[in-house]
Amino acid sequence: MFFKRSMPIIRERAKHCVSRSNIDSDALKVLRRLSDLGYTAYLVGGSVRDLLLGRTPKDFDVGTNASPTEIRGIFRNCFLIGRRFRLAHIVFGKKVIETSTFRRSPDEQDTEYGLYQSEDNTFGTPEEDAKRRDFTVNGLFYDIKTFAVIDYVDGLRDLDKRVLRSIGDPNVRFREDPVRMMRAVRFAARLGFTIDRASRKAIQKHHADILNASPPRVCEEVYRLFIGNASSTAFRLLWEFGLLNDLLPNLDAFVRASGGAKSIVWKYLAAFDSDPVSETATTGLRTAFLYYAMFKDRLVREAKQSPSEKGLSLRAAQSTLDEITNRLRIPKVAFFGAQFLLDTQRRFNEIPRRDTHTFRFVQHESFLESFALYRLVCAAEGADMAHCNTWQAFIDDKTNPRPGSGAGPKQRQERREHREGRRRGGRGRRGGGHGTAPRQPQPPTDS
Ligand code: ATP
Ligand code: MG
Repeated sequence: MFFKRSMPIIRERAKHCVSRSNIDSDALKVLRRLSDLGYTAYLVGGSVRDLLLGRTPKDFDVGTNASPTEIRGIFRNCFLIGRRFRLAHIVFGKKVIETSTFRRSPDEQDTEYGLYQSEDNTFGTPEEDAKRRDFTVNGLFYDIKTFAVIDYVDGLRDLDKRVLRSIGDPNVRFREDPVRMMRAVRFAARLGFTIDRASRKAIQKHHADILNASPPRVCEEVYRLFIGNASSTAFRLLWEFGLLNDLLPNLDAFVRASGGAKSIVWKYLAAFDSDPVSETATTGLRTAFLYYAMFKDRLVREAKQSPSEKGLSLRAAQSTLDEITNRLRIPKVAFFGAQFLLDTQRRFNEIPRRDTHTFRFVQHESFLESFALYRLVCAAEGADMAHCNTWQAFIDDKTNPRPGSGAGPKQRQERREHREGRRRGGRGRRGGGHGTAPRQPQPPTDS
C-alpha cells in the first residue's frame, strides 16, 4: 500500500477521557511491563475507540515494538500463535491479552480468499501499524508511558464526528479483504456511526466480493453482528447494501416480500437486541431469531397444505435453516440449536401441565432459550401476553418451588420413582422403546 510518512496528532491526557481505571488490570500489567523494559507499548484497536466513546471494551489488545520472541521471553504465561505473523497470547486465567508486534500491510499477493489472508511476517513502525488497520476510529493508540492518545489516521476527528471511514481507498481496502465491508456494517450499527460516502459507494460497488472471502470468517462475522444490541440495524444495513443477497439470498427475498425496510425480520431482531438474553445467546438462538419469520411463514403455508402431517414443524425448521447451513457452513451446534428452538415453539401453544412430558421439556438445557424466543416473538408481534405469563409463572414455580407447590421434595420423589420405573421397564436413558415417540434431537451446547 502507498505509504507516506507523517506526524501523528497527539491528544494529551488532559484532553481525553481514557483513564487507567477503565483499562483491564491485566492489560495494564502487560503494558507496564513492556514499557518498564524500554519497549513501546500501546493499547490498540477497538479498546481505545470504545474507551474514548465511554463504552466498555470487549477486549484489550496491545501493540508493541518487542518481537514475538522477546514477548515470549518476558511473559511466562505467553503462547505464540499463527504460522507466519506470530501473535502473542498472554493468558490470565480465562482471559487473553492479545499482544502483537507493530506490523505493516502485507505485500499484495493474491490468494484463494483475497489479499488480506496473505499474512506476512513484516514488522513495521507504529505508523505503519495504524495504517494497515481497517477504519480510522480503529487505528488509534493509547500510550502507557505518556497517557496520550496517538493518532496517525485522523481517527480522533472521525470519532468526534461519529463517522466510520476506511483508512486508504475503500475500493482497494474492501477488495483486499471483503470482510471489512461486514465490519463497516457492524461498527456503524453498534456505535450508531454513519459510514462515510466513499466507503458506502465502495460497498455498493464491491459487495459481491464478499463471496470471495473465506466462509469461516464470514460465518464468524455474521454471528458478531448479534453482539452489542444492534443486530436489527446491522442486518438491515447488510440488506440495504446488497450483502445479504450475496450471502443469504432466500432470507433477502423473504425480507423484500415481507415489506423490505419494514419487514417483520427487523422487529424480531430488535426484540432480541432489547433483551438481556442477547448477552449470553448461543449461536443457535441467534440463528433462530434471524430465521424465525421465515420459519413461521413456511410452517403456516405447509400446515395449510397438510394440516395433520406429523413432524411438520421440525421439517419446516430444517428446510428454513438449509440456506444458512449450506451457504455459511455454520457449525453443527448452531444448526441443531436453532432447529430445536424453532421446532419447540409449538410446545408453547399448550397450557403448561405438571406432567413428565412438560417436565422434560422444562429441564432441557435449551428450554430457557426456547422460552426467550417465544416470549420475545410474542412481544414483537404485540400479542396478548396472558398465555406467555402463564408459562412464565409455571417456570418461576419450577425454578423457585414454594412449599406445597408441587415442585418440592414430593415431586422430586415422584420424579425419582418415575425414573426408576423407566429403568425397570427396560428403556435405556435415550428412550426409543416400541411404541414411543422419537425423542427430540438434543442440540449440543455452545461452549
Ligand atoms: P470489537 O469491539 O468488536 O472486538 P474491534 O475493533 O476490537 O471490535 P477486532 O476484530 O477485535 O475489532 O479487531 C481488533 C483491531 O484489529 C481492529 O480495531 C482493527 O484495528 C484491526 N483489524 C481487525 N480486523 C481487521 C481487518 N480485517 N482489516 C484491518 N484491520 C483489522
Ligand atoms: Mg476486539
